[in-house]
Amino acid sequence: MARGRKALIAGNWKMNGLLDDGVDRARGLLALVAAADRLSADIVLCPPATLLAILARELRGSPVALGGQDCHADDRGAHTGDVAAPMLADCGCRFVIVGHSERRADHGEKNALVRRKAEAAHRAGLVAIVCLGENQAERAKGRALAVVEKQLKGSLPKSADAANTVIAYEPVWAIGSGETATGEDIAAVHGHLRGLLDKRLGAAGAKVRILYGGSVKPANVAEILAIDNVNGALVGGASLDVDDFWAICRAAP
Ligand code: PEP
Repeated sequence: MARGRKALIAGNWKMNGLLDDGVDRARGLLALVAAADRLSADIVLCPPATLLAILARELRGSPVALGGQDCHADDRGAHTGDVAAPMLADCGCRFVIVGHSERRADHGEKNALVRRKAEAAHRAGLVAIVCLGENQAERAKGRALAVVEKQLKGSLPKSADAANTVIAYEPVWAIGSGETATGEDIAAVHGHLRGLLDKRLGAAGAKVRILYGGSVKPANVAEILAIDNVNGALVGGASLDVDDFWAICRAAP
């Protein structure tokens, strides 16, 4: 588990949520948070961009943080349809996901671009949640560790430190599929990433939170969070159900 830091549970709503149900979902979570005697995890919600401003108002003053799902690598300019990191910070975000496998696949994002996006997040004072993970064919060929190593080295900017960067290991084949990696596989990848972070950041490497993502649900989260070097979870589908997401947040030791 986390070495001396609270676990982080991040809910990635992806392209789901209209005004009414998005606000209802956030309010439902806030009611559960308010009724709890203690929070064992830091919690962040990453709704679609259209809901950021309204949810920033809902979450203000609560322990639940707000995050974007992506940002542009530039701070401003002629990039129709994109959102810049300073805009996310301006509307109340503290986090932003970069390099999610769905963006790598849908938009052809490569490590170098992900690195520039993480840099943009840091310039804006945001915590970058940098996603990486092997696909099914890479795992079948025994290349999972080599793939995540290359992604980590290529996607982490020089500005990365333990305060402004979170790593999310998400095997592509486990996302939204109902399949999760085995405990042994997760331990092997997280251990490998930890070693690389230690090498890169020295003592600060131990403090970087490494999340697991891929079909995390109430039924498997406790087991996953108990694995060495797993410091939280990035949750897609189950974050859309308030009770399931709350059960996941409560599972952190
Ligand atoms: C994700 O999209 O980051 C994710 C982990 O999705 P799911 O939990 O649905 O697999």
